[in-house]
Amino acid sequence: MPDSKKDYQKILASIQTPVEGEAGETGTWSNIKPIININKCTPAKSGKYTCFRCWLFCPEGVISRTIPPEINLKYCKGCGICMEECPVEAIRMEVMNQK
Ligand code: SF4
Ligand code: SF4
Repeated sequence: MPDSKKDYQKILASIQTPVEGEAGETGTWSNIKPIININKCTPAKSGKYTCFRCWLFCPEGVISRTIPPEINLKYCKGCGICMEECPVEAIRMEVMNQK
């Protein structure tokens, strides 16, 4: 178990950012995409590094741990887990036009 801020920083630094793999840009797999309402999102409203459940639970690792959080739609598969995990209902899923 990590027991210091330094340990947690090492773990966070080891988390990979998504890159194009064998499957290409997986964001094209679905036209349903999450939208974050920054007027509801806790870190966006407070300016503090708190919550980030969407970042933690996204199975594709495409949500940034930033204020506000941002979603890389090039690799988002539209599963909706982030919406389910957001405690303040700041994320909604919308149908978007494919390019
Ligand atoms: S819809 Fe799924 S893949 Fe896309 S950002 Fe949310 S949790 Fe990640
Ligand atoms: S889970 Fe919801 S409130 Fe928390 S950081 Fe993500 S969008 Fe913001």
